[in-house]
Amino acid sequence: MALAFDEFGRPFVIIKEQDQKVRLRGLDAQKANIASGMAVSRILRTSLGPKGMDKMLQSPDGDVTITNDGATILEQMDVDNQIAKLLVELSRSQDYEIGDGTTGVVVLAGALLEQAQKLLERGVHPIRVAEGYETASRIAVEHLEKIAQKFDFGVNNIEPLVQTCMTTLSSKIVNRCKRSLAEISVKAVLAVADLERKDVNLDLIKVEGKVGGKLEDTELIYGIVVDKEMSHPQMPKQIEDAKIAILTCPFEPPKPKTKHKVDVDTVEKFQTLRKQEHQYFDNMVQKCKGVGATLVICQWGFDDEANHLLMNRNLPAVRWVGGVELELIAIATGGRIVPRFEELTPEKLGKAGLVQEKAFGTTKDRMLYVEHCANSRAVTIFIRGGNKMMIEETKRSIHDALCVARNLIRNNSIVYGGGSSEISCSISVEAAADRYPGVEQYAIRAFADALDSVPMSLAENSGLQPIETLSAVKSQQIKENNPYCGIDCNDAGTNDMREQNVFETLIGKQQQILLATQVVKMILKIDDVISPSDF
Ligand code: ADP
Repeated sequence: MALAFDEFGRPFVIIKEQDQKVRLRGLDAQKANIASGMAVSRILRTSLGPKGMDKMLQSPDGDVTITNDGATILEQMDVDNQIAKLLVELSRSQDYEIGDGTTGVVVLAGALLEQAQKLLERGVHPIRVAEGYETASRIAVEHLEKIAQKFDFGVNNIEPLVQTCMTTLSSKIVNRCKRSLAEISVKAVLAVADLERKDVNLDLIKVEGKVGGKLEDTELIYGIVVDKEMSHPQMPKQIEDAKIAILTCPFEPPKPKTKHKVDVDTVEKFQTLRKQEHQYFDNMVQKCKGVGATLVICQWGFDDEANHLLMNRNLPAVRWVGGVELELIAIATGGRIVPRFEELTPEKLGKAGLVQEKAFGTTKDRMLYVEHCANSRAVTIFIRGGNKMMIEETKRSIHDALCVARNLIRNNSIVYGGGSSEISCSISVEAAADRYPGVEQYAIRAFADALDSVPMSLAENSGLQPIETLSAVKSQQIKENNPYCGIDCNDAGTNDMREQNVFETLIGKQQQILLATQVVKMILKIDDVISPSDF
């Protein structure tokens, strides 16, 4: 602070900007950052694995979400701390790239931070820790490739894919129906997959939900389901061999672009105007019928008069269909989206074997099913469930399962789950540590210890003694030279994960290790934190 005087001799105080900021330097900065990162990871730790707990999050407007998906929990938490936000980003990038393993990656990052803290307290320089972690992560990723296995699947042999999706679903709330949901997910992915190019466009899978019914009623529809109904209750509810006009132009007379005033001062003038308007509608309907359309799907609405006319002329119509849905319908039926009535031609019509409106239970809700399409490369997973929260969580779980199936189509290598691959990596990293003469050795060992935290959390969450269980499994892996021993979370009687059919994709697991190491290195390299103080 400094005292100064202006040109009239009045005193004023100059406060330096820096004085208003809180500044942490050196080891203090690292310790504070590590503590914030660990706090976030501690929250997710209890949600890991098949017996993991769920979290209930309430948004400011009162919406409640119940989930155990790491990315969703962090997304919905109102995180203020910048380091904590890095972990939220971490889980999000795992979600973008892989789609599964979002809890595991944060738990691993938390454990790496915890180990780093111990080393810093013992006087190891943060850069040495970061370098050691980098080396160790390379060893672990290479080791994963060694213990990975390839498995074959084909369009006629989808069982292996189903099994992997079931592992993903087994840790979710929906695990009661994991078999059927896994089958639905795999069939959906295979329906839209390009097996030659080994790629899957998940945008072609529409996931729709409606409250009501049971989770078991969830179904896969080779076509599109839209939450809309026919525009008039007297229009037919079922159209076979439908020729669909997909329109983004409104069913209404054109509006003048500039302002006009129309004087209607006589009955005749009014009637001419009405007639003209009627004529417009009539021409539009005629145009659609002329090219052979038996159903019109419209992005925009139309008024009662047009609606009535459509009904009278026997041309069923659906209005207010969203842009994304319109696009999917166009892809599925092989039609074109038409922006002007003049451009409508018979070739641009979409074709579907059956379009029907279905009602549910005793409610007035109706949905439109567009099935047996010309090109069934767009499919819909239609979820039923007791309440909105259940449906939302099922959507998230199905997203994970779809991602896992897609990853396997891209690369069919797998590693076994239940913490077995982490334990195996930990053993190999530990063994490699001896080969490094410098201080790095400690960091590499610390990395091995951090890897153990995943199986340890799995054991803890399943009500087992974490340290005893881990040491028993670890010694069994070494004794039997079997990298597939993991934590028997479900008390299935064996801890060989091959027998339990618990596996994850190799790229998912590698990504977890790489991303977690990257973020932890980044946090360790920050030695100066300047932030505005909050007074
Ligand atoms: P994420 O969001 O990271 O996928 P999950 O809560 O789905 O987290 O838990 C995944 C972890 O649970 C993985 O390490 C996986 O190997 C393990 N896991 C899943 N099913 C089983 C099982 N039946 N037995 C043991 N471990 C399992």
